[in-house]
Amino acid sequence: MDLRTALVEGQFELRYQPLVNLERNAICGLEALLRWRHPTRGTVAPAEFVPLAEENGLIVPIGAWVLRQACLDAAELPGSIKIAVNLSAVQLRNRQLVETVVSALAASGLPAQRLELEITESVLLENSEATLQTLRTLRELGVRIALDDFGTGYSSLGYLRRFPFDKIKIDRCFVADLSASAQGPAALLRALAGLGSSLGMITTAEGVETSERVQRVRARV
Ligand code: MN
Repeated sequence: MDLRTALVEGQFELRYQPLVNLERNAICGLEALLRWRHPTRGTVAPAEFVPLAEENGLIVPIGAWVLRQACLDAAELPGSIKIAVNLSAVQLRNRQLVETVVSALAASGLPAQRLELEITESVLLENSEATLQTLRTLRELGVRIALDDFGTGYSSLGYLRRFPFDKIKIDRCFVADLSASAQGPAALLRALAGLGSSLGMITTAEGVETSERVQRVRARV
């Protein structure tokens, strides 16, 4: 009931996490992260309410709000900065998704090329033709599709075969594991980055939030 109220009363907000291009050393995009400002509980993290919203279907209207708001915010940004929006498997199964994306782009005037949709491999687990078709349609519009949290879960390389992703995002645990001495984590990070570049996909390392970590990642890829 609170979730329903939240949507009507505008209690959701977006926070933006920068994506940095290491070659140019410049911000090239922002990932929209959803937060819920609950009137009595304070800020609620998505891990606490998104699973519930997926269960009761509210993720569809909430996700549509996120898309609209993120596109509006991105349209205000200078130049070619991209906006990344996370999509849930439930949203992808919804027949209205393409329409929702098209209308968010139209309402904001944001070029499709500046919108990046992030999906996790759980979306591809079911291997449904309808889901793949939706992803293809979105990509034909010019929207970019990224594979999020790669390297955890099932991490089947088959997912990379099944759909021509524009980007893979290496899960934050690989960066968190990097230390001065251990060889294993560095080898894994290098291999994943190499895989992305061989496939012509952009690679993003998640969880790089200090300059020390930037240096560690740079030194290893
Ligand atoms: Mn993401």
